[in-house]
Amino acid sequence: MNLILLGAPGAGKGTQAEVICDHLNIPAISTGNIIREALKNGTELGLKAKSYMDSGALVPDEVVIDIIKERLSKDDCQNGFILDGFPRTVPQAEALDAMGVKIDKVIDIEVADEKIMKRLSGRRVCQECGASYHIDYKPSKVEGKCDKCNGETVLRKDDHPDTIKERLEVYHEQTEPLKDYYAKTGKLTIVEGQEEVKDTTALTLKALEA
Ligand code: AMP
Repeated sequence: MNLILLGAPGAGKGTQAEVICDHLNIPAISTGNIIREALKNGTELGLKAKSYMDSGALVPDEVVIDIIKERLSKDDCQNGFILDGFPRTVPQAEALDAMGVKIDKVIDIEVADEKIMKRLSGRRVCQECGASYHIDYKPSKVEGKCDKCNGETVLRKDDHPDTIKERLEVYHEQTEPLKDYYAKTGKLTIVEGQEEVKDTTALTLKALEA
């Protein structure tokens, strides 16, 4: 099954992508994670993307389209995949269509902006392994340390309140139109993000079967 997860930054796409990945045994592909990894490794892609990412803007379409083209050509995608954070603009969705990629389902996770502000500003991410925590909802056992690898957990640069505001604006302007784009194809299912992750997960799994 080829799936797309839509939703604002902080709506919980990454968590749900992991759940589906385990459930269907298909890879979850996050363009944000690929770009962050490139940044960490100081590659040309990372350098190109850094200023956009830090300010909360989107990386140019042609850069992320190239990333996805390459990633989807790998063997592990041949039985299906979950796209988390791609497409984020109508031209990216059109590029996916032009590549001949058939999408079976699009799940849009909806969460109000105020909740997203609270979630992202309290999020802490392990610098080593990328595991995600929240200072109120999911604290690590030792403050500032990752439970999994003991790496340092930090506030992502783009999770600072001003940058979150910018990311939400970008989302409403450039990404939200994708709801219409996929509603027209009849592939869109909306999941209302819940307070408890397990409740959102139950709705996501139900959406997969619908
Ligand atoms: P994420 O972790 O998905 O919130 O992505 C973090 C940042 O990476 C975004 O704010 C963008 O700067 C960049 N990014 C990730 N995916 C895309 C995409 N599909 N198009 C443009 N920029 C992206």
